[in-house]
Amino acid sequence: MTQSPPKHGLQTRIVHPHDDLTPGFESFSVPVARASTVIFPDLATMRALDWRNDAQWRYGLHATPTSIALAQRLAALEGGHHALLQPSGLSSISNVYFAFVKSGDDVLIPDNAYSPNRDHGDWLARDFGVSARYYDPMIGARIADLIQPNTRLIWLEAPGSVTMEVPDIPAITAVARARNVVTAIDNTWSAGIAFRPFEHGVDISVQALTKYQSGGADVLMGATITAEQTLHHKLKLARMRMGIGVSSDDCSLILRSLPTMQVRFQQHDRTALALATWLKTRPEIAAVLHPALPDCPGHAFYQRDFTGAGGLFSVVFDKRYSPAQIDTFCESLELFAIGWSWGGAASLVMPYDIASMRSASDWPHGGTLVRFYMGLEEEADLRADIEHCLNALAG
Ligand SMILES: *Cc1c(COP(=O)(O)O)cnc(C)c1O
Repeated sequence: MTQSPPKHGLQTRIVHPHDDLTPGFESFSVPVARASTVIFPDLATMRALDWRNDAQWRYGLHATPTSIALAQRLAALEGGHHALLQPSGLSSISNVYFAFVKSGDDVLIPDNAYSPNRDHGDWLARDFGVSARYYDPMIGARIADLIQPNTRLIWLEAPGSVTMEVPDIPAITAVARARNVVTAIDNTWSAGIAFRPFEHGVDISVQALTKYQSGGADVLMGATITAEQTLHHKLKLARMRMGIGVSSDDCSLILRSLPTMQVRFQQHDRTALALATWLKTRPEIAAVLHPALPDCPGHAFYQRDFTGAGGLFSVVFDKRYSPAQIDTFCESLELFAIGWSWGGAASLVMPYDIASMRSASDWPHGGTLVRFYMGLEEEADLRADIEHCLNALAG
């Protein structure tokens, strides 16, 4: 994507990427290059290999023309310069930890982080001599009070998984920069198209490509994206040492979906916003936690920093309904599957017990939270399905 003319918009550049990894052969698709062995023309070439050099082919685990094509497109999409691929979003998170944190170091994690990220932090704290501390996602510039001399990494997630608070990202990254602490954002919710992390002072962006980039609910992959070479090299070295790589077949599936990601995202966004706005009018619902709507903490930061929302949001039911009643509501929905890993075409639903998931901030709601992922079905059908089950709940 490096050679595409800058006069074109993002969506045009995704459709016409102009990478030149297979000279002499042109098609709209990227060939699937499968390799463990990469053959060197002579020993001098092998001996001159430098792991820092992204232009050298070294070993199939590290990169193939297919994986590099995907990495380059993801970096360009996110507004960064370097991307590395990992076999899941969680392994991208793990790659960041192992690149920047060692025994004796301290990490700050938002209280509403993706649960397996919390679990990863707890694991490092329990077994690897790291300190992992949790912060109120709405802390803003007051994060300065939590930074210690040994704090190496601050995680951000915008909005937070499940509870959807939108943090004041520039306030946090400004403090982190001044104190020399690396910041990493889990930017999966925005797909890298509705929030530009490097324009807001973030050092590393993590994407679970499993979600919108795949779009098919059938591939697992993740990426770490940076705009700065020193950070990229640290991530690259940790990735190499841990033996992390991805399959070119999987890369090819994601490359196939990437040109349609923005239109899919916009369609999810339209349906989700319409249904979130409607749910707000229902007496069974106490709060709608959608960043584009005023009930959501950090709504003003969303309006300032984001350009769209996609399909994922949550609602809090009135506390007169028991968790068992909400379970019944979720199970009675016909078009919403019960399962993780949103980003595909089909709608999903999941209830959560939030109080058991946090430790550093209060959860103000008494009712049960339900997270919806609005898929690509007809909006009217999704609405009728929810309406029917809400009526059953109320009646
Ligand atoms: C799904 C998800 C991940 C992890 O992705 P996997 O590929 O399933 O490991 C990380 N962060 C967020 C916010 C996610 O939604």
